Amino acid sequence: MSNTNERSNKDSFDFYFFFVPAVQTLAAVWNRPGVCGLDNSGNSCYLNVVLQCLCSTVPLVEHLLNQDTRRDLCRFAEVFVRLLEEMWLGRSSSCAPLEARSALSSILPQFNNYSQQDAQELLLFLLNMLHDDLKKPRPEQNRNCGSDFTIVSHLFEGQLSYMTLCMHCDHQAHSKQTFTVLSLPIPTGITKCSVQDCLSLFFEQTVLTGGEQMLCSVCGLRRETAVLTSLDKPPEILLLHLKRFGCKGKHQVKLRTNVGFSMKLDLTPFLSSSAQNASFSSYHLYAVVNHTGHLNTGHYTALCHSAPAQVWHCFDDSIVREVQDSVVQSPNAYMLLYSCKPFQKPKIHGL
Ligand SMILES: [Zn+2]
Repeated sequence: MSNTNERSNKDSFDFYFFFVPAVQTLAAVWNRPGVCGLDNSGNSCYLNVVLQCLCSTVPLVEHLLNQDTRRDLCRFAEVFVRLLEEMWLGRSSSCAPLEARSALSSILPQFNNYSQQDAQELLLFLLNMLHDDLKKPRPEQNRNCGSDFTIVSHLFEGQLSYMTLCMHCDHQAHSKQTFTVLSLPIPTGITKCSVQDCLSLFFEQTVLTGGEQMLCSVCGLRRETAVLTSLDKPPEILLLHLKRFGCKGKHQVKLRTNVGFSMKLDLTPFLSSSAQNASFSSYHLYAVVNHTGHLNTGHYTALCHSAPAQVWHCFDDSIVREVQDSVVQSPNAYMLLYSCKPFQKPKIHGL
């Protein structure tokens, strides 16, 4: 752009006169920190939507772009932070996440191709990778100081509690399991339901029979077992995945059920008795991943709420547009991202 001024013939002058001001206007309109399209590098919409969701997760961005965190970063975390910096502090309306893609495929070879992949699987992989990179002990520290606790586990990890009941002797056993994503079944045989219906189905009491029977420590035999699942520790950031990709006999199918959801979600009905006093159980929606089209040939787009601008944007690879709140609800929703509190503009140096 800068050498345009040096051209002297009249055509170039006209070009400069009409073209440059238009670009400047566009750039001025699109000066929105954290709102940056991502170029598609060949079937990479699944990667772009996941990066957009993470980019709009304000507490994660705030932590990673903090100067103290940025020292000693390695592998994927280092590349990811550079991308976040470009998306939050750059002045372009889009950028190319090529470095992130190559870092990802060098660590996880299954993503080293141009075929469509599952956004939910990728999000889990990326969070695990970030967690692993961030928990590495710094060289000057004693190796024993390496902690399993990182910003990723702090924000995204929740805990489920399982109570199993032997249907023969009533013996109860309890266990716990951490989770990052809740993969929710969609009720079948209906065309419309709500995310609360999916949650109710997930937390519904089940009875394990036949080959699934569990060994009862009191009876010493495999018995029919009732399993009750509840939420023991609600995570700060709640990731919900709608299991749209299922099997019908030998065939893989996509469930097109219209799953309704709203900007707020209350998890109180699913809390365990010990979690009734949990510091939070109501959530605010801040991002949605949509999937349109068929199983392996579909397309992903993301809707993310911009904390600084307080509006929603639709990200279709490099194309970004502001959308009304009413557009956020869509029958194509595949993942829903909620936060226990509404995000504020992140405190980032240089913003
Ligand atoms: Zn028993």
